[in-house]
Amino acid sequence: MKLILLGAPGAGKGTVAKRLTAIDGSVQISTGDILRGAVKEGTELGKQAEAFMKAGDLVPDDLIMGIMEERLQEDDCKNGFLLDGFPRTIPQAEALKGLLTRINAQLDFVVNLDVPRDVILDRLTTRRTCVDCGAIYNVKSMPTKVEGVCDKCGGKVVQRDDETEEAISNRLDVYNAKTAPLVDFYGKEGMLLSVTATSSDLVVSTIQEKLGL
Ligand code: AMP
Repeated sequence: MKLILLGAPGAGKGTVAKRLTAIDGSVQISTGDILRGAVKEGTELGKQAEAFMKAGDLVPDDLIMGIMEERLQEDDCKNGFLLDGFPRTIPQAEALKGLLTRINAQLDFVVNLDVPRDVILDRLTTRRTCVDCGAIYNVKSMPTKVEGVCDKCGGKVVQRDDETEEAISNRLDVYNAKTAPLVDFYGKEGMLLSVTATSSDLVVSTIQEKLGL
């Protein structure tokens, strides 16, 4: 499958993407994970992105398009891909359209994960992430077996730098201003599937049904 997962931070894009990869071998492409990896490794990209990320602002479109141009042409994308956290602005969506045409790939559709703001705020403040493998936990609903240690890889499980109350509030404002307009953009293209996303089971089964999988 070739999908875009749209939705506010904390809407469950990463969780849904990870579950969908298990269905047909499509790869999850998270620009946030790629950028966090670059920051951790101290690469040039990481240095350029770090301050924007920490404040909860968007990284400039040209850096993001540079990443995606390369990533979408890697071999593992041939089985399909789930775009998680990209595109996040209208210019990124326009550039993606051109890129997909050039590499001869066609999206199935764009899933909009619709979640009430109070649920999102609660999820983000209680979310914890493994710094090594990116596994996602929640101190209330899905804690690690041993506090601070990833069940899957033994890595350190932490609250992300951009999951302070201030950065979260900024990320949600940025989402409303820059990313929410993509719902209309893809609606007009006839590509949109909107799902009320309080349960990831429901989201996954709705997508499977729509794809006939
Ligand atoms: P995420 O893990 O998707 O919430 O992304 C974490 C942070 O990485 C965001 O708050 C942005 O600073 C940056 N980021 C990730 N994807 C993008 C994108 N497509 N465009 C701009 N910035 C991005």
